[in-house]
Amino acid sequence: MKIICIGRNYIEHAKELKNEVPSEPVIFMKPKSALLLPEKPVYYPEFTDDLHYECELVVRINKNGKYIQERFARKYYNEVTVGLDFTARDLQQKLKDKGLPWEIAKAFDASAAVGKFVSLTPEKNVQEMNFELKLNNMTVQNGNTAQMIFGVNKIIEYASKFFTLNIGDLIFTGTPAGVGPVTVYDKLEGYLEGEKLLEVDIR
Ligand code: MG
Repeated sequence: MKIICIGRNYIEHAKELKNEVPSEPVIFMKPKSALLLPEKPVYYPEFTDDLHYECELVVRINKNGKYIQERFARKYYNEVTVGLDFTARDLQQKLKDKGLPWEIAKAFDASAAVGKFVSLTPEKNVQEMNFELKLNNMTVQNGNTAQMIFGVNKIIEYASKFFTLNIGDLIFTGTPAGVGPVTVYDKLEGYLEGEKLLEVDIR
């Protein structure tokens, strides 16, 4: 199982981190060991002083495939949730400045939190879903999947050129504006279409 993540997939978020708006999806990966186990807190890592949340729509692949065309991509997933792409922002900035890969700032243990998955009904368009993140009961991110630069089906087409997609793989589809730091004892809650699917404590 692998976790494919998309960076800079919402214009306002690309701008807030002073990144260019990409012309093709920006992809990075997290290993299975990055998955936060259910009901577990995130322990603030010792290698960062600027741990950030990024709330994202997460899609679970339910069919193996390679070279999947955008128009057939919908057959490859049927469950979604909200997740958190935890990022050591200070470390990432240092790596970006040197043009180096981001992995240690993005793919560390417990850096990928996922909520309870919900099935997409036939009338539910994955590109018209509201999601929200609350930090200590205050809304800090509020996005709609319609704002994605590259939609889920396009991401699947692009990613599957390079990587075979397997059942159980997860795709983190990028975060809207409003990312920010967490501190020990914070509580994060993720909502999809008003339904709470995710809760993570920082310890
Ligand atoms: Mg992200």
